[in-house]
Amino acid sequence: MIKNAQIHFNEVGTPVADNFDDVYFSNDDGLAESHYVFYQQNNIQARLQNHDQAHFVIAETGFGTGLNFLNAWQHFNDHLANQQVQNQVDKRVKRLHFISFEKYPLNADDLKKALQAWPTLHKLSDELTTHYPINLAGCHRIEFNNGQVILDLYFGDVLDSINAMSYPQSGVVDAWFLDGFAPSKNPDMWQQSVFNAMVDISRKQATLATFTAAGFVRRGLIAAGFNMQKAKGFGRKREMLIGQLADANSAQSSPPYFEHPPAKLEHVAVIGGGIASSCILHSLAKRGIKSTLFCQDEKPAMGASHNVQGAVYPHLQAKNSPHSELFSHSFLYAKRSYQQLLKNGFNFDHSWCGVLQHAVKKPLADKHQNLEQKQLWPQSLMRNVTAEQGDTLAGVTTSYPGVYFEQGGWVNPPQLVEAMLQAAHTLQPFSRHFNCHVKQLNKTPEGWYLAANNIQYGPFSDVIICAGEHSDAFEQTNALPIVGVRGQVSHIQASEHSKKLKTVLCHKGYFTPAYLGKHCMGATFEKNTKSRAVTEKDNQLNHEQLLSFYHQSDFATSLGDITSAKAAVRCTFIDHLPMAGQWCEQSDYINAFANLRLGKRYQYLPLQKPQQGLHIFTGFGARALCSAPLLSEHFISTLNSEPRPLSERVSQAIHPARFIVRDLIRNKI
Ligand code: SAM
Repeated sequence: MIKNAQIHFNEVGTPVADNFDDVYFSNDDGLAESHYVFYQQNNIQARLQNHDQAHFVIAETGFGTGLNFLNAWQHFNDHLANQQVQNQVDKRVKRLHFISFEKYPLNADDLKKALQAWPTLHKLSDELTTHYPINLAGCHRIEFNNGQVILDLYFGDVLDSINAMSYPQSGVVDAWFLDGFAPSKNPDMWQQSVFNAMVDISRKQATLATFTAAGFVRRGLIAAGFNMQKAKGFGRKREMLIGQLADANSAQSSPPYFEHPPAKLEHVAVIGGGIASSCILHSLAKRGIKSTLFCQDEKPAMGASHNVQGAVYPHLQAKNSPHSELFSHSFLYAKRSYQQLLKNGFNFDHSWCGVLQHAVKKPLADKHQNLEQKQLWPQSLMRNVTAEQGDTLAGVTTSYPGVYFEQGGWVNPPQLVEAMLQAAHTLQPFSRHFNCHVKQLNKTPEGWYLAANNIQYGPFSDVIICAGEHSDAFEQTNALPIVGVRGQVSHIQASEHSKKLKTVLCHKGYFTPAYLGKHCMGATFEKNTKSRAVTEKDNQLNHEQLLSFYHQSDFATSLGDITSAKAAVRCTFIDHLPMAGQWCEQSDYINAFANLRLGKRYQYLPLQKPQQGLHIFTGFGARALCSAPLLSEHFISTLNSEPRPLSERVSQAIHPARFIVRDLIRNKI
């Protein structure tokens, strides 16, 4: 669990950390100090004019009050404003990416109070405090300026956080702000292992600046690979340190069989029309990347994203697993993204009414007890409730204890998909081809062509298949080990009793608060069938299941008729995790990584990449509303050589090659 910093404000109003007995910034104009020491001494203004990538990445040790971030953001906004005037867009940076590591985050009230000292930053401070994350370990990706400014705020120890990151050999960081209290007061932050880890994620020529001139810090940074120099300190301070990395080292987070090659992303064909593809189109549009949408249906969200009300909440385990990391952070990011869409005027019906998961059976009750004992999750994400507390929250009597997700709720998925597509289109217009059944993907020297309706569309630098259960319909991808799970959701008329329900209820299935006079009730779960036809039998199953758990509750026994239903086949994989990454051909893997059969320490051959530019983004099951937005960010960030919001263990857990690698290691193929 992440613990908040204990702080007080000294006689001049500067925040001071009690456990480090040190100030967060200088008593003499902390903002000017931040600008001089970190922004200017890293020469950021000039570097934003002429950079080799469209994004520039700053990383900071110690987020504290966020002052350094706010100052960088403020100056980046000036840079963007000048850019419009001068209209010189070529080599100028378009997006600022700020990574910061924080072990003891300020609580929200202290943060607000500390930032009141800077009236010139108040607009940005308000945005930061509005989106400031809960005390959950790991990376919180928070976007400002519609994605032009990205803050990856890691809660946890700096060294643990860097060691868990997913990053390419070329590194990701362009400039470092080393700001972890005085080295004498916080030696942990200035260890050799931290300096070495910094180099692992740095790009070549990365710079650094720090307020300290301590000899051991200088020597440690030199030993890690930085060329170091002293500079004049801020105000009364005589000296400070600046440095530059001669070359990136060869470290990368993944073994060769889970490497993520960068993609061209010049013009991307996106196949599919549901929540997964709308998230991909949005992530691409935020980066100004050209795309085209292809969907075999007549309009968006006709497949597994077609329900009238979809529950949004995280699927958490009672352990710190890749699964839990993925769903906890995805949920928080999805909620932020959806609220941002609404704020920007892209509307969809929804209610953040909370989600209550009832312990309707012993295994669920055991799981909930385990979750309570482990205390892994902040209460604002998930908390255990007694039957009485739960019933008060739900507004109906059920007599089940359970767990409550207060930030959860429901959205109307087809409207959400449309809102996301419109938001993407506003940022970077793209063509939509509906009623367009792509039958073949053909790779040529100019790029990929898509054959549909007797037309060859292309060339595209990349193709991303987000076609759910149909993702294996192409010659290249027919080995995709999809497990199709049919689900039918019934719509049942609300009664006076059932209209009192205030939260989404989850039992073995789910039941939503009344919307347009009806509740969504479901869903069935049937493997190995491809039928999307609605059946009376499944309506009955849904109704019987609800009554089996709630036969003593008025809200369930008083319901009216089932008036309609929707059925779809959800795309899942055997490990219940989605898939995001470049398509991996089994035969290429067997050639390159045959030695995995002997054990991981043997040499591998280079992987040939005949399918370069072909990617898979699917397998969300019934959880795309929660997991697709962050996974899409992670995936596109990976392809675009940007910092990635999910850790290396999650990247491997969702990698398209994971089943092939597992089978090679077990000597099964
Ligand atoms: N940059 C900050 C600002 O703009 O307000 C000030 C940073 S303050 C001087 C140092 C920060 O480092 C504190 O917030 C502290 O909690 C954090 N910190 C200390 N030890 C840490 C560690 N091992 N890992 C991550 N953060 C740490």
